[in-house]
Amino acid sequence: MKNNYDIAIIGGGIGGLMAAHRLAELDPSLSIALFEKGNPLDRRICPIIAKKTKTCIKCKSCAIMEGLAGAGAFSDGKYVISTEYGGWLTEFLPDETVIDYIEQADKILINFGATTERFMPSNELKKLCLKYDLHMSQAQVKHLGTDSNFDTMLNLIHALEDKVEIHTNSNVTNVDKETHTLTVQSKGSEQTCTADKIIFAVGRAGSLFFSDWCEKNNIPLHNNQVDIGVRVELPSLVWEDFAKKIYEPKIRYRSKEYGDIIRMFCFNDRGQVVTENTNGVLTVNGHSYRDESRKTKNSNFALLSTTNFTQPFKEPIEYARHVASLANLISGGSVLVQRLGDLEVGRRTDEKRLRQGTVRPTLFAVPGDLSLCIPKRQLDNIIETLHALDQIAPGTANYDTLLYGIECKYYSARPRCNEFEIEGCPGIYAVGDGAGFTRSLSQASANGLYVADLIAKNV
Ligand SMILES: Cc1cc2nc3c(=O)[nH]c(=O)nc-3n(C[C@H](O)[C@H](O)[C@H](O)COP(=O)(O)OP(=O)(O)OC[C@H]3O[C@@H](n4cnc5c(N)ncnc54)[C@H](O)[C@@H]3O)c2cc1C
Repeated sequence: MKNNYDIAIIGGGIGGLMAAHRLAELDPSLSIALFEKGNPLDRRICPIIAKKTKTCIKCKSCAIMEGLAGAGAFSDGKYVISTEYGGWLTEFLPDETVIDYIEQADKILINFGATTERFMPSNELKKLCLKYDLHMSQAQVKHLGTDSNFDTMLNLIHALEDKVEIHTNSNVTNVDKETHTLTVQSKGSEQTCTADKIIFAVGRAGSLFFSDWCEKNNIPLHNNQVDIGVRVELPSLVWEDFAKKIYEPKIRYRSKEYGDIIRMFCFNDRGQVVTENTNGVLTVNGHSYRDESRKTKNSNFALLSTTNFTQPFKEPIEYARHVASLANLISGGSVLVQRLGDLEVGRRTDEKRLRQGTVRPTLFAVPGDLSLCIPKRQLDNIIETLHALDQIAPGTANYDTLLYGIECKYYSARPRCNEFEIEGCPGIYAVGDGAGFTRSLSQASANGLYVADLIAKNV
């Protein structure tokens, strides 16, 4: 590690990598360091995916969330070309600018091997949804696939290695906002370096670190939204029409009972349910491969109920972590799975009932009772929405539909900033999910490229 760099990037997810790529391309003379607390991409092995264990063993560094290529490394690689969802960049930039940067990032990914195939929006399906008061977002979507997404990211990283100093297993534990000194813990020792410009691109895995840092440095933070719910798994035939036409249905519903918004998203056609470990709490997620031989008979999607807290409560992330921890607690350190029918009649799903079900789980989770850990309001919302969705995709609310819990999306607290430069910290920027600006591969990429362009103009 050198003593000083022109630019230091904290976090090697897609936001950080895109920023590094653009900066190196625009000015090859820049000295750029990228610090990633997790492993190099080819050493990121989740013991569950490698079939070494059936349940999460809480690795020191979660291979799903941390390491080069970030949280997206084993994702389904759905690349959304739209500003309708996937983040909040349009609160800072005009729509056209966001789309332009999403397209620029797409071109970069295509250069490194991503597919050019796009799924187009369907008015016919949107109309069908509207008939039942379900609101489907319209977007062009690409499905990179877990396998091909991994290879694309590997190619991007290999190309960067000649131009950028990439330090893996290097955890940035502090940044002095006055002197721009970074403290980096790596392989048991602590080192420091300085950088003229610094980009925080820490993702959800680094969101606690980042919000603590902001609080310590008196940087105002804002966030009061949290989404809590389940991962739904059912036979792929149920949503086949949608999957074939648009690949990913993203649907919003306002519950009649509470008037809350419930979102269906992160759909994985013939995919797999997985666990993820965020700062010690185990939650669920899903992905699917492009390779036909690795596809399953089930599809899965997230179904989450949004809560916006009002005064005096200010800790939505802690709230979500508590709910998810409760599921970890009652499942003996794992996640829960329950049949919808059992949930509705108020009984636990046990091993026998799960075996009797017609949907074979793709994740080894502990059969149990979700009503013991999901608050009533969110649970009612989820059940009501499943029945609403059943009208456009019959079979969604079948007795054997599997619900895994908890899935939650907590959005990192957002620092006050101007053009992504953090208030009171000249030369220090934040991008991506970790700063609460984005929640998708496409917007995190766009955010990284945009900030790189800004920095390149000013160095
Ligand atoms: C299982 C899964 C599936 C998903 N599927 C999709 C999908 O299909 N489509 C989609 O658009 N989005 C998907 N997402 C979300 C998407 O992955 C994220 O929106 C995107 O990765 C955010 O990019 P980022 O660069 O902001 O952060 P991340 O990708 O999270 O990267 C941040 C990196 O910073 C590192 N880091 C954190 N703190 C420090 C520190 N102090 N020092 C050094 N390094 C640090 C982390 O280890 C991490 O590697 C999925 C996420 C998961 C977990």
